[in-house]
Amino acid sequence: MSFFGDLLGAVASAVQTVIDVAGDIASTAIRVIRTEYQRLKDQYREIDVSERKEARHRQLIDVNDEILEFEKKLRRDGKLCDQDQLHLSELRAKRLELRSRIDAAKEFEVASDISNHDDLYGIKDIDPVSPNELTRLGGQMVMGKTCSKCQKPMAIRWPTNTLNPTLEDLFWSCTGFFQKLPNGAPLCKYTENLSNPDMKLFGHIQRPGMEVSSDKLNNIVQRPETSEYVKQKLNHAINEISDDYLCPVHHERMALKTKRNANGLLDLYYLRCLRCEQMVKIKSATQLDAILESYNGKGLFS
Ligand SMILES: [Zn+2]
Ligand SMILES: [Zn+2]
Repeated sequence: MSFFGDLLGAVASAVQTVIDVAGDIASTAIRVIRTEYQRLKDQYREIDVSERKEARHRQLIDVNDEILEFEKKLRRDGKLCDQDQLHLSELRAKRLELRSRIDAAKEFEVASDISNHDDLYGIKDIDPVSPNELTRLGGQMVMGKTCSKCQKPMAIRWPTNTLNPTLEDLFWSCTGFFQKLPNGAPLCKYTENLSNPDMKLFGHIQRPGMEVSSDKLNNIVQRPETSEYVKQKLNHAINEISDDYLCPVHHERMALKTKRNANGLLDLYYLRCLRCEQMVKIKSATQLDAILESYNGKGLFS
């Protein structure tokens, strides 16, 4: 079951945003999603999808623990016996399966939200100068967009030193970029420019603040009083995991961290996998909005 991919031929992020929706489908998206959601809800009446998702997350942690043991053994001994090798491949396959089940549960949850709050959803064209809805997704794992070279998930990125990226600065990047080969080179360097259909979104269209230009937004959050407000709001979330940011290697939920000696609010927060070095920097006001919504249920201006 891949809700949005199958129904809309589209890419879905964890936070109720669907990218690359064909125009003719977009107009009927809510009706299509609601119908399919109702059908699945009836079919899985007996199942608590959110509880099931939590169970899969717990299983995933166990599977990663086991994989790690074998990988350690492999590094130590230089090879694995046939039986261990087989077991390791089975575990990796199991990890992939758990991933797709977690993604499916998430899509089901989003479909439920769309069905119940259809007045909040709609189609929006991205402003090429301030592509706020897209930078908001920076570092999040999206579903249905995989690297054509290595099949790993892709994420929206822009150059680190670009403070107010326009549409032209954004690109799809393979998450394998952040995994390093033994010689230190990225595992995969594949990138793709954003295409025209990426500029049409289906999602929350009424998000407060997203109509403001990105440089203005970035200025607002860096004012001392806004910075204090945000820090206060996120105080409880430090070291807590988020459903919206998953490690591309382990698929476990990343935790919110703060940087020591940060140069302002847009240098302070990042998410990190608790198992490896994978991280996502929160370097724009729109990402902060996403983080606040992820941990508090409410964004910067709601
Ligand atoms: Zn790749
Ligand atoms: Zn990891």
